[in-house]
Amino acid sequence: MTGWRVRASVDPAAIPAPAREICEVLRAEGYGAWVVGGCVRDHLLGRDVADWDLCTSARPERVMKLFVRTIPTGIAHGTVTVVRDREHFEVTTLRGDGEYTDGRRPDAVRFLDDIASDLARRDFTVNAIAYDPIEGILVDPHGGLDDLRRGLLRAVGDPAQRFGEDGLRVLRGARFTASLGFDLEPATEAAIPGALGVLRRVSPERVREEWLKTLKAQTPSRAFAVMARTGILAVTIPALTAPGKDPSVWERSLRGVDACPLPATSRLAALLHSVEPPLLEAWLRATKFSNEERATVAALRRALPLGAPGGWSDGDVRRWLRRVGREVARPVLDVVAAVEGEAALGGLRERVGAMLDAGVALSVAELAIDGNAVMEALGMAPSRALGTLLAGLLEQVLEDPSRNHPETLLALAVTAHDSLR
Ligand code: ATP
Ligand code: MG
Repeated sequence: MTGWRVRASVDPAAIPAPAREICEVLRAEGYGAWVVGGCVRDHLLGRDVADWDLCTSARPERVMKLFVRTIPTGIAHGTVTVVRDREHFEVTTLRGDGEYTDGRRPDAVRFLDDIASDLARRDFTVNAIAYDPIEGILVDPHGGLDDLRRGLLRAVGDPAQRFGEDGLRVLRGARFTASLGFDLEPATEAAIPGALGVLRRVSPERVREEWLKTLKAQTPSRAFAVMARTGILAVTIPALTAPGKDPSVWERSLRGVDACPLPATSRLAALLHSVEPPLLEAWLRATKFSNEERATVAALRRALPLGAPGGWSDGDVRRWLRRVGREVARPVLDVVAAVEGEAALGGLRERVGAMLDAGVALSVAELAIDGNAVMEALGMAPSRALGTLLAGLLEQVLEDPSRNHPETLLALAVTAHDSLR
């Protein structure tokens, strides 16, 4: 039981009018046209459909001629984006992939006339369903609807062969267990370990994209548990050595990734909280996470563990805030709470919230006076001593924020300056 109420077929009224019109135009020209893939799957499950993808027997050049506004999105693979009523629809010519020799992408694309062969090259049966909106016919040669009802991810055809063709499919399979709450059908899961060599050849960009989608799924732990027991994880992130080694740490990772609120970077930090910061940063770089993603995850990881914040003075909390930075403070608390439980925060969430809301000063730039005012009052020139003096003022303000007023700070500056002479 997966909790989805699976429809018996596609509700034609759910298909956006422009998508239907595109199919009508293609049909009028004698071509076949279907909605297909993830949109059909999600619609049958009663999930929100992000993009209604279409496929057709018309060649891409023909599609470009038949519609006024088109974009040659992936023309080599037969995909043309048709813009209609300001909405974008990907229209892909029916294909059968050629030989896969590198485990990444098909070497050649063959365009076909029949929908069955196109569905046969897709990864899982639940993704290999098409619907003809003109005839009202569901095309489901691999039993995808049955698998939707049973909550099963089953490879189309021979799983070992299908995984061998494209290493990304094992990651997609793991992801769908998390986003749909489905199980991998046993023979499909059993074929994963044999496909790990192919997974190694998948580009880091595609791996990153799958990880981000997985982290955003309903229950990401389901996917990462699959990855752990099939060996995917050991290939993808060797730094996360053997989740089996200390099961309690890994269990905390899995609980943490589910409990942690988005964004995905927070969930990633929760999942990988046991990886040493330098190894984690090297992995993020190798997996082509963006500079911003890398900086965020690294900052989150470096802020852990917190220690015992229940015993911190207000000054300690403000010094901690300055160290981790305003932007990641709340995400750090989310990660700690997800991994160790809210109690581990010892009330830090409320204290940090109040301080941030009050607009506490955390940097020299946020002091109530600037360097110019200090130089003028003390007759100083720009110098290292000035920097030291301002840093000292910030320390005083972190200890007691009521000092963050121009006169108070100037008086403190004078005292500090005198004592330096
Ligand atoms: P989501 O959009 O939620 O990521 P999806 O299944 O729609 O999932 P897309 O990348 O949008 O994924 O692909 C659309 C369809 O193309 C899939 O449903 C599937 O039929 C097919 N497909 C995508 N990637 C692969 C692949 N690596 N191997 C085989 N078929 C694939
Ligand atoms: Mg999709």
